[in-house]
Amino acid sequence: MHRLKDAGHASLLVGGCVRDLMLGREPKDFDVVTDARPEEIRKLFHSARVIGRRFRLVHVRFGRDIIEVATFRAIPRDVADEVISREEEEEEDDALDDADASTEIENQNIFGSQAEDAVRRDFTVNALYYDIRNFSVLDYVGGVADLQAGILRVIGEPQARYREDPVRMLRAVRFAAKLGFKIEDKTAAPIPELASLLTTVSPARMFEEVLKLFHSGYALQTFELLRHYGLFQFLFPLTEKSLASEEQGFPITLVPRALANTDKRVNEDKPVTPAFLFAAMLWEPVRQETAALLARGTNSYDAFHRATEHVLRQQLQHVSIPKRFSVPMREIWSLQSRFERRAGQQAFRLLENKRFRAAYDFLLLRADTGEADKMLAQWWTDFQVADENQRQAMVAQIAPSAGGNEKKRRRRRRRRSASKPATTERA
Ligand code: ATP
Ligand code: MG
Repeated sequence: MHRLKDAGHASLLVGGCVRDLMLGREPKDFDVVTDARPEEIRKLFHSARVIGRRFRLVHVRFGRDIIEVATFRAIPRDVADEVISREEEEEEDDALDDADASTEIENQNIFGSQAEDAVRRDFTVNALYYDIRNFSVLDYVGGVADLQAGILRVIGEPQARYREDPVRMLRAVRFAAKLGFKIEDKTAAPIPELASLLTTVSPARMFEEVLKLFHSGYALQTFELLRHYGLFQFLFPLTEKSLASEEQGFPITLVPRALANTDKRVNEDKPVTPAFLFAAMLWEPVRQETAALLARGTNSYDAFHRATEHVLRQQLQHVSIPKRFSVPMREIWSLQSRFERRAGQQAFRLLENKRFRAAYDFLLLRADTGEADKMLAQWWTDFQVADENQRQAMVAQIAPSAGGNEKKRRRRRRRRSASKPATTERA
């Protein structure tokens, strides 16, 4: 920031980091705005990289950290026209019309453009600037008062701002949960009605948002707010439906339990993976569809696979799941039935599986909700910490289960038939 300032440019912190610092919280990342053009920023920092046609951001790398540096919109129109995509142009129209009024766009007042920059942001508490030139906070939209009162308020007319970008509805809920803020009435009112606009957002962007919603340490609270405002059904429609059903008179609790687990892990700085999150979110729909297919006489292998395909196909229309997460997610699911088959070498082999740990955590979750056998989960907990002799003993003690038995019998038969005539075995 000082390098920008010393080169004669405006240099301000903006957005979430100013908000968090003023609340005494540790910012997740730092966003910088300046009047320097991306090309000028790049000359000042050898580690700078201009990214994104649409937003003309510069990423400046300091060791492991990346600082996002954005330029105010005080850029000449011809340059703007060249880089701004059609999509953004629509948003941009008002600002450019205003700029037209002044003949000297090139010399446009920094503060004027900064004020424009402010009103383009989403919430008042996200539009505060910290200016290192005079150590002051600049507030164009009443953000400081809202920050002190704990209020999340959209800048401008909420309906219009949500129509412009429906993701702002998700952001409202996310910040309310994270900051413990109240969503101001006018900001909250249109959400249930406009929630369906989320179907117009690209599944790829929705995926990014889902991670921010559920991997920030406030997933449970966020989940409750999302459902309250009717937003959740547009993220996970099948999950929403499954939540309405009950299992033997008990509400289904896997999702909230999984989210509480996730929060705990995030707050303990343990790693979390989208594979587990999506596995938990979609488990009930998969399980219910599998059961329905089984009831119609489909064999268990086909039932599970058809249910999985169907659930995923529907889910991906709303929120995309990159292959690197959907593949392990399916593995977590398919390993669930293998936990029951422990005879012979099966338990040992399962333990070696690279997805064992995640699948085991998932089994514990299912056992907590009462859907999986608690004794089975305990057996696997014990098995992991047991030594080799104890493990052999544990496996030997298992009453031959249907699955294990079948496999053994088949193998024995095959082996025998190889060495002896088939008639001997029958006798
Ligand atoms: P977090 O702590 O999650 O990073 P943040 O407020 O920094 O919160 P970012 O997504 O990093 O959120 O965005 C940085 C800033 O950019 C926001 O504070 C806001 O001013 C602006 N912004 C981000 N997304 C939007 C949007 N969809 N509409 C308007 N302004 C946005
Ligand atoms: Mg941020």
